[in-house]
Amino acid sequence: MTAAISKARRGDPVIILEKTVQLGKKILASGNGRCNLLNEQLDSSFYNPEARPLVNSVFSRFGRNEILNFFSELGLHYYSQDGRIFPFTNQAASVLKVLEMEIRRLGVKVEYGFDCLSIRKTQNGFSLQAADGRQQTGQNLILTGGGCTYPAFGSDGSGYKLAASLGHRIIKPIPSTVPLVVKDPICHLLQGQRIIARAQSRIRDKVGTPVDGELLFTKYGLSGSLILDISQEISLAINRLNIKDVSLGIDLIPFIEPKQMETELLKRRKTGLSPEEMLTGILPNKLCVAFKQLFEKDNPAKAAAKLKNWRFEVSGTRGWNEAEFTAGGIDTGEIDIQTLESKLVKGLYLAGEVLDVNGVRGGYNLGWAWASGYIAGLN
Ligand SMILES: Cc1cc2nc3c(=O)[nH]c(=O)nc-3n(C[C@H](O)[C@H](O)[C@H](O)COP(=O)(O)OP(=O)(O)OC[C@H]3O[C@@H](n4cnc5c(N)ncnc54)[C@H](O)[C@@H]3O)c2cc1C
Repeated sequence: MTAAISKARRGDPVIILEKTVQLGKKILASGNGRCNLLNEQLDSSFYNPEARPLVNSVFSRFGRNEILNFFSELGLHYYSQDGRIFPFTNQAASVLKVLEMEIRRLGVKVEYGFDCLSIRKTQNGFSLQAADGRQQTGQNLILTGGGCTYPAFGSDGSGYKLAASLGHRIIKPIPSTVPLVVKDPICHLLQGQRIIARAQSRIRDKVGTPVDGELLFTKYGLSGSLILDISQEISLAINRLNIKDVSLGIDLIPFIEPKQMETELLKRRKTGLSPEEMLTGILPNKLCVAFKQLFEKDNPAKAAAKLKNWRFEVSGTRGWNEAEFTAGGIDTGEIDIQTLESKLVKGLYLAGEVLDVNGVRGGYNLGWAWASGYIAGLN
């Protein structure tokens, strides 16, 4: 949509070919329906290293300020919460609506239900064929088919296939920002329970940076913002590098220092509390029951140490229906970082998640989609 807008603002005729019956379905789902549309701190360090030259080049021309001006001019009001930017309405639908209004104002034609199956380079440009037999031709083509996550919203990896058919190299797409599969019966027992915790990944001998946030126990393992935030490097290790030795150390009580925790548990034991009551008021009741065996077997010092570093062996990640982003995609080395034109196919431009550009959570993926689309449309 931003690609169509910048192109149409130059007076060029534009047509959007959209597979589904609606534009921007993923925007509606973003940020739990609130749409975290950008981050105050927008720079390439929040993206995968291979993509940084391209990301730098795009943001140097259409970065945080330009993106916010763009939305302001469309009439969107927004606010910041811990650096993350949301529409003032707290409704992702507002973000989609202002884009649709601008598309309409500019007279951009949208052809819905056009599920593009093939792209052929012709003498004058491109010829596209849809699943229902429809055809479209154009002089230039901006391919913004997205990644593989939440295929029900339209993007199912077909953008990669179309780019590959034109000769582009695809870095294996893997789910990123995704819940983790952990075969520990405690997860099943505690499913649905949320706590604030601190997690640290261990991939072989490499220990990651601690991350704080909300942990959600599920019947298959672990989820919640904490897990989504830490999952990128874990998914890469498991799904791309085939590393089996991956675990998480979780501090279930991050708000109490280890020594203080030990002292508190010793004091509680002296008062004659039952094993089940030892963590009452510290952890939710369901967890007090789940961890009671710690106080039947271990002394309080050992129990405190275990609760401050509970180890979960990670056996896998959940799939495309639960991941927020795709890591991988079209090799950014094959794109002109100034224009976003393919170095292999003249007149073909690429933008958004279909490229091997993935940012951390917090508005970075939409930030990339807005900016790269806008720059691709300028050229
Ligand atoms: C649940 C969820 C929450 C998210 N929350 C956030 C958030 O708060 N902040 C953030 O920054 N990012 C978030 N993201 C990620 C963000 O939504 C994406 O990175 C972004 O939408 C990518 O934009 P895009 O235009 O490249 O691709 P998409 O938004 O996926 O759009 C691609 C479009 O191409 C169409 N298409 C695909 N294949 C074809 C084809 N063969 N023919 C015709 N049309 C086709 C699709 O139907 C779709 O409309 C979230 C993602 C999910 C799944």
